[in-house]
Amino acid sequence: MTEQQTSQGRIPLAKESIASVRELLKECMQCGTCTGSCANSYAMDITPRKLWRLVQLGFQEEIFASRTFSLCSSCYYCTLRCPRGLPLTETIHALKRLAAAQGFVADKKGPRFYRSFLGTVRRYGRVREMELMGRYFLSMKNPLLPLAFAPLGVKLMLKGKVAPEIPRIFGPGKLEAIYRKVEELESGS
Ligand code: SF4
Ligand code: SF4
Repeated sequence: MTEQQTSQGRIPLAKESIASVRELLKECMQCGTCTGSCANSYAMDITPRKLWRLVQLGFQEEIFASRTFSLCSSCYYCTLRCPRGLPLTETIHALKRLAAAQGFVADKKGPRFYRSFLGTVRRYGRVREMELMGRYFLSMKNPLLPLAFAPLGVKLMLKGKVAPEIPRIFGPGKLEAIYRKVEELESGS
């Protein structure tokens, strides 16, 4: 399988290039419906509409310096409402893969959190909050970071939102075969 090894685990290498991503967006007419529909656009430094334009123009540096695609929560609302029927959420996913493969990640917190999250889901079949945060703190290599999260952690524990026990939905390792199969399919497509 084509992949690169990182301290956080395996990341499939992006098969996309900026040219193939541009192809997905060539019919964008810049109407802005996607931006108007995006619940996260208020926090983005470049609106989705502007991001598509930068992709059309091939401005890689600006695209990958932006936090926009890492703030996308994959809600598919822009995709649903685009009058041209463009695969916008998939485009964002492709940009995320490209950025990770090329080492262009302005905001390292997002990808590290994603990887920590997926690591626990892969292991238990659902997220295990204690392990998720442990993995995330280790990946950030900042000994003071757990202190910043401590008040929130205590609050969540008091409300019973953080379960210390190991989830038993699938049992440890039961999703491994599914993950491997998906990796195999993705690397062969
Ligand atoms: S809604 Fe579709 S056509 Fe309109 S700006 Fe967004 S991507 Fe382009
Ligand atoms: S999929 Fe991403 S870009 Fe599209 S509306 Fe949702 S958060 Fe915004």
